[in-house]
Amino acid sequence: MALKESLWGLLFSDFITIGIIIATAFAPRLSVFTRKILFNSALYSTSVALLYYLGSNGPGLLYLLAITIFILLSLDKRFGYVAVALNTIICIGFCIAIYYGFASPVLLNEYQFDSWIGVSSNLIFLSAVSALLIPRLFNGLQSAIDKQNHLGEELEKSVTDLNAKNKELEQFTYTISHDLKEPLRMVHSFMKLLKNKYRKQLDEKAHEYIYYAMDGAQRMQANIDDLLEYSRIGRKYTSVEHTDLNALLDIAIQNLQADIQEQQTNITPADLPTLNVVPVALKILFQNLLSNALKYQQDDNQPNIEISAEEESTSWLFSFSDNGIGIDPEYHEQIFSIFKRLHPREEIPGNGMGLAICKKIVEQHGGKIWVESKSQQGSTFYFTISKHYFDKNDEKRGKNHLQD
Ligand code: ADP
Repeated sequence: MALKESLWGLLFSDFITIGIIIATAFAPRLSVFTRKILFNSALYSTSVALLYYLGSNGPGLLYLLAITIFILLSLDKRFGYVAVALNTIICIGFCIAIYYGFASPVLLNEYQFDSWIGVSSNLIFLSAVSALLIPRLFNGLQSAIDKQNHLGEELEKSVTDLNAKNKELEQFTYTISHDLKEPLRMVHSFMKLLKNKYRKQLDEKAHEYIYYAMDGAQRMQANIDDLLEYSRIGRKYTSVEHTDLNALLDIAIQNLQADIQEQQTNITPADLPTLNVVPVALKILFQNLLSNALKYQQDDNQPNIEISAEEESTSWLFSFSDNGIGIDPEYHEQIFSIFKRLHPREEIPGNGMGLAICKKIVEQHGGKIWVESKSQQGSTFYFTISKHYFDKNDEKRGKNHLQD
């Protein structure tokens, strides 16, 4: 346009601006700050030239406002005030030029002294408002983004810490359980020696004490074995396979066959899916739930166990229902803790680890477990198994597997 209208001054200014921008972009060793200052200065010279040669027909005034905003976004907010001051100086310069009649013919044609004051004060006002408000607006946005990033980082750190602590705790449980086994085995075997070797010398009371000591050692042995089993889940049982869960349920039922037959149990299995799971762990889960359903029954009650499986969007929902003694709602959460029992061992055998193990297995598969039940009205244990948990965690699991 400058060429067509023979506005050589404008053309010259355009070339200078483009030259400065190219030189700024390619000059080595220039700091970013210097580049920004040079770039904005080039834009200033263009807007003055545009204003001079084109007046209101060109984008000169608009450029001045745009540069103010650009400066506010690219430099410190103090430079915004510098931009307002520069705009004011430019407007005053043009005001004097119009007043004394040495402005360009376009400007002189377009503006009287008063009308220029009106237009330019509008520009200065808008620049000042931008200089005041834009930093506030962006500071608010920036601090919201910073806060969110900070929270995200904190969360990630907490999850990493928690995972590390869990691993440490598992390792601790494993080592302690392992180390306790040997002295316990000694207590048990020396008690046995004492009982056998001094059978005749010992009176009935001494035999009774030995019995209790051996029984205690045996129970502690069972507890330690369960703790070891508990710490192994997720440590040792890590190999995931695409498994037909019906086959695992069959094995679990087979393992409990003696009790099932003795109690004339009625089991209604569901058609279970084939999923990516840790097969050993899932078999233990099924077996623990079935064994509890058989164990927690009124005397002479014929156990009735119903199994169901329902597909949901991201997981499968399973349930094991029984017609047993039920669980008071106040204990629905506690029963999943380690060593939590609701019955004396003499009444119903067990050591309170079965459901804790179930919970750990379900969580290992990205799911949840809970119970719905009322005292004397049977119980239904629900759990979910995530469909794609191991797809997402493949890489992570691979690492764990190597550590194991
Ligand atoms: P354990 O059977 O060795 O005691 P669990 O962790 O398997 O350990 O169960 C914890 C407690 O939950 C049991 O002591 C029992 O009181 C209760 N419980 C578990 N399953 C059932 C069930 N199917 N019906 C009634 N109570 C149950």
